[in-house]
Amino acid sequence: MFHGHDEHRLGAMQTLPRPMRKFRDDEVVDYCVVGVGSAGGVLVQRLARAGFRVVGLEAGPFWDTEKDWVSDEKGSHELYWNDLRIIGGTDPLALGENNSGKGVGGGSVHWAAFTPRFHPSDFRVYSEDGVGADWPISYWDLKPYYELLEREIPVAGPAWFPWGDPHGHPYGPHPLGGVGDILVRGCTKLGIRTVAGGPVAILSASHGDRPHCIYRGFCIQGCKVGAKASTLITHVPDAITHGAEIRAHSMAARVSLRDDGRVDGVTYFDREGNEHFQRARAVIVSGYAIETPRLLLNSACPGHRHGLANSSGTLGKYLMAQAGNVVAGRFDELIRLYKAPPAHALSEEFYETDRRRDFARGFAIQTVGPLPVAFAKQMMAAMGAWGWGMRRVMMDYNHWATLGVLGEILPWEDNRVELAEEKDRFGLRVAKVTFNLHENDRKLIEFGKRKVMNVLWAAGATQVVQESRFAHLVGAARMGNDPATSVVDRFGRTHDIPNLFICDGSILPTQGSANPGLTIQALAARTADYLIQQGDAIFSSSRRDLSEPSIRYDFSPPYTKWKGNPRIA
Ligand SMILES: Cc1cc2nc3c(=O)[nH]c(=O)nc-3n(C[C@H](O)[C@H](O)[C@H](O)COP(=O)(O)OP(=O)(O)OC[C@H]3O[C@@H](n4cnc5c(N)ncnc54)[C@H](O)[C@@H]3O)c2cc1C
Ligand code: SF4
Repeated sequence: MFHGHDEHRLGAMQTLPRPMRKFRDDEVVDYCVVGVGSAGGVLVQRLARAGFRVVGLEAGPFWDTEKDWVSDEKGSHELYWNDLRIIGGTDPLALGENNSGKGVGGGSVHWAAFTPRFHPSDFRVYSEDGVGADWPISYWDLKPYYELLEREIPVAGPAWFPWGDPHGHPYGPHPLGGVGDILVRGCTKLGIRTVAGGPVAILSASHGDRPHCIYRGFCIQGCKVGAKASTLITHVPDAITHGAEIRAHSMAARVSLRDDGRVDGVTYFDREGNEHFQRARAVIVSGYAIETPRLLLNSACPGHRHGLANSSGTLGKYLMAQAGNVVAGRFDELIRLYKAPPAHALSEEFYETDRRRDFARGFAIQTVGPLPVAFAKQMMAAMGAWGWGMRRVMMDYNHWATLGVLGEILPWEDNRVELAEEKDRFGLRVAKVTFNLHENDRKLIEFGKRKVMNVLWAAGATQVVQESRFAHLVGAARMGNDPATSVVDRFGRTHDIPNLFICDGSILPTQGSANPGLTIQALAARTADYLIQQGDAIFSSSRRDLSEPSIRYDFSPPYTKWKGNPRIA
């Protein structure tokens, strides 16, 4: 058994049968994937299984789950993209810690792993509600990939999920923690339907070489146990086994365009700041909703002065975050926020547009389980706790329950990623992220916040406070049928450059009020199937075949194919 080597040490769950293949920079690979996160991890795995020569360039480290991760809240801050980003707008987004990931696995390493699907209405927001945008695909195009990924990662959850397209889950639900208990109790008193025990990509029973959850609450710190899914442990080992190279500490600087209008590789910097060029027959950018537009804007060249794939002028625009207000209630009983995964109960009762309200779209109510440092920050923001007041609140930590509003913020043109004048240590201009709430967003947030406060009062809270915040950035390179108003087509191929693709959260035209991770991975599996079906045509032809690919059920990582127990057909 091979346990990796110096630069790519692999923990127990990442043990591989043979060493990782290494390509030289001057070797031409088929696909260079920039960013091995939620989407990139699935892509490299599928493409390697199909026999393509694949290199994944990842700016961050290759985590060793055994050695790098600690069961310590502050010790996990390395998981985040902490490099400089500039923020602005009327409602600037807090970036850095608790935002996008950096390192193999990307944001799937620190996500809470809530995995609801988007609703069918999310794909038709403009047609149904006259706001936002329609997707170029429907829910039904993505549904088989939702089902596939739910088995692969896999998802534990209730036997019956009643909202959107009702469905069941492959693995049984988790037991309810104290916060879930409060969510269910408060909602039930108000007549709001809930589900408990998921949907969450955390094992409720052992699965392959991964153990089940032991309810220690460190999910957002990386889950040293390996019960929580991340592409680092679900897809990347299988990618390497099938011949992909994952090159960590490799910061992509520019995608290079040839005179004939096709890309031919990626310039990147290694850890020491040495410049390299990886030659490739096609490039897929999977760097997250901020770094993807940043890279393509930084790749401007003659003929593409405003960035690669930006003839529409929409690259960087229509960035979205979800409203992520945290509402906290104090209870006389013990709650113990840290027990159980933070993600384990929710309600999507207010997800869809309700004509009786004065805003479009809606929100979800979810459990959140901040550990003490995050909780202290939230209480500072929510109630101005400081000094002795903060000590009192923290001594009371075990009596507080926190619920999250997850609200849909619409795609607006003025919410955008641009290049700042400031540069990083490689001399690359960093991203400037501008974010403004609009009237519909504000009304939705106000309504959602009040509703969740009422849930906590109904559950018996003696005090209720809330902190306004945002979560889950997506958009900024949206997909669409019209090259004048979108960056990529229905399979993630850029409208402008036939062998340049984007595949990550940045291609989402709208975001619903479901956490986006499962949708991002389902889209990646679909894009991979498309590339596999198109074969060599991607490397040589400019013809755009938009027919749906067949689904490669046989390309799932081991232990996942047809596993689980879908109780609802
Ligand atoms: C605290 C927290 C909790 C969350 N919980 C949930 C949840 O419960 N459910 C859910 O669905 N979602 C959750 N999310 C969101 C989820 O993690 C992201 O939506 C998802 O990971 C985004 O996937 P992605 O593929 O777009 O990008 P990522 O997963 O972030 O991957 C991008 C990768 O690209 C790399 N990269 C970027 N630029 C470059 C470059 N120039 N060169 C090389 N590499 C580069 C990055 O280092 C990163 O590894 C959570 C997020 C946070 C912060
Ligand atoms: S609660 Fe479960 S999934 Fe979360 S860190 Fe602990 S073992 Fe991992």
